[in-house]
Amino acid sequence: MNLRRFLGIALLFAASLPLAAAKTSFETPAWTNPAAPFRIAGNLYYVGSEDLAAYLIVTPQGDILINSNLESSVPLIKQSVEALGFKFSDIKILLISHGHFDHCAGSAALLKQTGAKYYVMDADVSVVESGGKTDFAYDADPEMHFPVAHVDRVLHDGSKVSLGGTTLTAHLTAGHTRGTTTWTLDEPASDKANAQPLHVVIIGSPNVNAGYKLVGNKAYPQIAEDYKSGFATLHQLPCDIFLGAHGGYFGIAAKYPKWKAGDKDAFVDPAGYKAYVSERERAFQAELARQEKK
Ligand SMILES: [Zn+2]
Repeated sequence: MNLRRFLGIALLFAASLPLAAAKTSFETPAWTNPAAPFRIAGNLYYVGSEDLAAYLIVTPQGDILINSNLESSVPLIKQSVEALGFKFSDIKILLISHGHFDHCAGSAALLKQTGAKYYVMDADVSVVESGGKTDFAYDADPEMHFPVAHVDRVLHDGSKVSLGGTTLTAHLTAGHTRGTTTWTLDEPASDKANAQPLHVVIIGSPNVNAGYKLVGNKAYPQIAEDYKSGFATLHQLPCDIFLGAHGGYFGIAAKYPKWKAGDKDAFVDPAGYKAYVSERERAFQAELARQEKK
């Protein structure tokens, strides 16, 4: 889009920000700073904020949204969808990266406004339906809780979600939550008619949060094993377009300006994906070793 349209949308966002959004100690400005929506590839669009990623997949039979983010994110996501020329009410299916409030607190409102169905990985269903009160780490922390939402379809590792000719696959990459989900789909290459499709990977979260007990965790005994199998899965996924639940995972702040300057393949980054997964795995292993020594 041209600069004037970009600025216009930016102003529209600035004017509509809630005056006194509830803030948690985890929240950073990048979570709530609006970002201009844009097309990543094919029928896949970015409709998140600077750092809280949300993805719209547009099909002739309606649209799929990945992540509802904060309660205050819902009006921003709606504006992003509409700024791209699509209808909020065309969202038929809502998916999430994992059941933490920064990716799913907006779900209850978004489902009500759009009439979409909510599909969630089996092991995160209880967390989502309890508003975070059955989370293994944050069950007793009201700051991390969020409005409850009903799950319409329970997903499992390898489940397919299909709509209007597009199919996404849910990969269980647990540890960060019990049901952390990495989404994959294919998109056509940008301009080469006979090129192979591009494999898109949207990482659910490979991160070990501060305070997570990897050893002797009574609430989540298999946490370390789950992280390990999650990393094994991430290593196996073919990836051309590298995305994730937070823009910071895949360097959106550096890649978006390249996209805006005309590089439509700015998010094609197979080497960056491999490096990120390996670096996060080393961080997990270092934390595991530290806790095992205690
Ligand atoms: Zn999280």
